[in-house]
Amino acid sequence: MSDLKPLQRKAEHSFNAFFEKYKEDMACAQGCSRCCVGGLSVFAWEAAIITDWFHALSPEQKAAWKERQEVPSSQNQPFINSDGDEDRPCAFLRGDSCSIYEARPSLCRTQGMALSLKSEQGERLRDWCPLNFSTSEPQAQDDLNLDQLNAMLSQAQLIHERENPEALGPLRVDLSDLRDYLLRC
Ligand code: SF4
Repeated sequence: MSDLKPLQRKAEHSFNAFFEKYKEDMACAQGCSRCCVGGLSVFAWEAAIITDWFHALSPEQKAAWKERQEVPSSQNQPFINSDGDEDRPCAFLRGDSCSIYEARPSLCRTQGMALSLKSEQGERLRDWCPLNFSTSEPQAQDDLNLDQLNAMLSQAQLIHERENPEALGPLRVDLSDLRDYLLRC
């Protein structure tokens, strides 16, 4: 199977470069998990990377991971997001940290960057976390182009399907379902 992890690392490098340039204006820091909202799904190839990561853990590490998932945490309750709406945390968020951090999906590696995408009317829309850039704006040239990123993730899915015809399943996997699956493994 092609190693698609470099694509994930590229997303991470984009974030690091963005953060380096704008660190004075960004609130992103360990312990902030407001981007980690529930209802997320990933392409099957990213779900496969998470599954492979889990299967590579030792029996003791798997047991510890499962134990961590089972512990109820007040920080995993619904919360009011920075837009004032109620959100549920991602199924993999335990406390304020990601329990699959090493294998987290590409989009998670870019959380905190300013984003741009094309609207249905063809205009470019920009967005960023309101916790960042409270007194300034990032330059549009540094935005993460979501349309391009999604195209790359789709392309990776095609490669995954071509190389794993026997593993054809759903195109996208809900992270909550994936966590339930890992707990049963
Ligand atoms: S997978 Fe991890 S980084 Fe991504 S949203 Fe969930 S908890 Fe956050």
